[in-house]
Amino acid sequence: MLGKCLCGDVQFSSEIRTDPFKIYQCHCSLCKKQSGSSSNSATIIEASHFRWLKHDTIKNWQKNTGFSSHFCTNCGCPVPNSFADKYYWIPVGLLEFDRNLVAVEVVANFCLSSKSSWHSIDTESNNFDTLPDFKAILQFLS
Ligand SMILES: [Zn+2]
Ligand SMILES: [Zn+2]
Repeated sequence: MLGKCLCGDVQFSSEIRTDPFKIYQCHCSLCKKQSGSSSNSATIIEASHFRWLKHDTIKNWQKNTGFSSHFCTNCGCPVPNSFADKYYWIPVGLLEFDRNLVAVEVVANFCLSSKSSWHSIDTESNNFDTLPDFKAILQFLS
């Protein structure tokens, strides 16, 4: 599956390993600012299933707590970033998938204690007031 930033200077391909395609939403105050919306909609995949096609315009900003935001310097769009040498975080709004072919499921919501009042969530998914540990997050997405 192809992913692109707004201007197309950042492009990548990622293999989807699950059906439906599983994503999470994080409602923390940092993800709200980073996405400019009520939550980040994202997924995490293993590095071996991810490939950059174009990524020369990426810059990143890191908060002293460790939270980092990677973005295209040409269009300002948030873009994937690698962590722990093993995984890629992917903002799923960048993916160009055919809605008729790919089913997408929000399997978990994180940091609901700071959820925006205008955003409603599916009570069937795995919902947390805070951020669960990384192992648990990977399990939801696998
Ligand atoms: Zn761009
Ligand atoms: Zn967050």
